[in-house]
Amino acid sequence: MLGPPASIAAVFYSALVTLMVQHMRKLRQVNATLVLRHTVLFVMRPPYHPVYLLLNKYAMIKNVLLLTATTVLFTAIICKAQKKTVVPAIKTAAMNDLQAAYDGYKKIAVQIWDYAEVGYKEYKSSALLQQTLKDNGFTVDTAVAGIPTAFVAQFGSGKPVIGLLAEFDALPGLAQDSLPEKTPLAGRTAGHGCGHNLFGTASVAAGIEIEKLIAAGKLKGTVKVFGCPAEEGGSGKVYMVRAGLFNDVDVVIHWHPGDANEVTMVSALANISAKFRFHGIAAHAAAAPEKGRSALDAVEGMDYLVNMMREHIPQQTRIHYVITNGGKAPNVVPDFAEVYYYVRHPEKDMVREIFNRVVKAANGAALGTETTMDYEIIGGTHDLLLNKTLAAAMQKNLIQVGGVQYTPEETAFAKKIQATFNYKAPAIETADSIKTALPVADASTGSTDVGDVSYAVPTVGLSAATWVPGTAAHSWQAVACGSKDIGAKGMMVAAKTMALTAIDLFTDPALIEKATQEYKTALGDYKYQALLGDRKPALNYRD
Ligand SMILES: [Zn+2]
Repeated sequence: MLGPPASIAAVFYSALVTLMVQHMRKLRQVNATLVLRHTVLFVMRPPYHPVYLLLNKYAMIKNVLLLTATTVLFTAIICKAQKKTVVPAIKTAAMNDLQAAYDGYKKIAVQIWDYAEVGYKEYKSSALLQQTLKDNGFTVDTAVAGIPTAFVAQFGSGKPVIGLLAEFDALPGLAQDSLPEKTPLAGRTAGHGCGHNLFGTASVAAGIEIEKLIAAGKLKGTVKVFGCPAEEGGSGKVYMVRAGLFNDVDVVIHWHPGDANEVTMVSALANISAKFRFHGIAAHAAAAPEKGRSALDAVEGMDYLVNMMREHIPQQTRIHYVITNGGKAPNVVPDFAEVYYYVRHPEKDMVREIFNRVVKAANGAALGTETTMDYEIIGGTHDLLLNKTLAAAMQKNLIQVGGVQYTPEETAFAKKIQATFNYKAPAIETADSIKTALPVADASTGSTDVGDVSYAVPTVGLSAATWVPGTAAHSWQAVACGSKDIGAKGMMVAAKTMALTAIDLFTDPALIEKATQEYKTALGDYKYQALLGDRKPALNYRD
């Protein structure tokens, strides 16, 4: 009887010989008997002979170990060599594929630009993106997190799960034609001053590209496109985070339209916004003013107290307000007035603290004017947790994709846009360059609900040059670029960079692991709590 190791060796060798003979027979190139003879002679030699192995089990163990080590080594070398050629090939093909679909995606972006729907009212824009994803094989969960226009589209299965954020809301008061001079579009009340028509489309484009690669068996895992409504003040993503929609996601990729190509290494300001409502007593403003109590006085009193407070809060704080209701007629003491406030600071806890002081100012104003006050928190977002590991990976991809090149006509358009600035603009050619991603401390910035996503999952993003260099967000100039090729070309820079970064994540588990470690360290022991509390989505905040 042969011992177990030698038996295994014997089975192994006989199987090997049989397979070789069969193979050679198939090929009919070599005399099978000849092969058999040579193989038998080969395996009969020490230290491969089963009988020899039986006699010397240590040699057998040595050979098995040698075989295993060689196999592992060769597999590693082959995998690495394959990755060196396969991943770049997938990336190049993905970029070409996206470029080939340029006209189709531009059409979608222009359509959403045309819809120009404001926060939580983006029914047509959301439906168009959902349909585009469905047409490409995604399954779509719609009206998620209690928001009619929010959705999660998904393709593939298993890990990793890579998410892409898509925004699509417009801004009120920014209706503008696609012209290089200020030309409000008649009959419009809103415009895409933040380029979210491009934002949503690029993310959908990147998602579809990844879906194609998964379907073709070139990538394994799941891609999710998150349809995120009401970024502009509605904090849409906060409700999606609160609903746990990002719990199974490994990495989230996002982008934002801008006037330069740059991986995001600037955080955002944490923010709480609220509407303060004062209730007074109406009376004839001339005949019986003593009988009235003015709600507008209370608003003015609150604003005065908050403006005094500016001297006694940390430097980096931003507080701004608009009076959204100041009464209807000067000869009526207003019995209702409303003021809409934003409180921002780089640190979320400081925002909470300063906001509480603003509430005290509101209470003080109500007390002094004998009115009553109530307030409603409208939005609240976290600062943005940056991830250097992911940013470095994205930077390489952005460099590979490159910037935006203008045609002579586009350069002429860009010059006209720049002529409308009351400040010095960067050179037009900077649209074709890539900035170096460096952490920027104390940079002036706004707020974004991507901040809350960045607390739920490692997150990375970029800006792409969709606007003429020097163009500010939320301007008519930004709206003017958003339906042109200038905008669409920048949008494709973003789509390609996001797709390439996703390909890195799908093919390199170590990258996800490293990014997750960095995220966990940054998060520390912080337990996420939405700054807007447990309120329901403010679906009518634009009314
Ligand atoms: Zn925006």
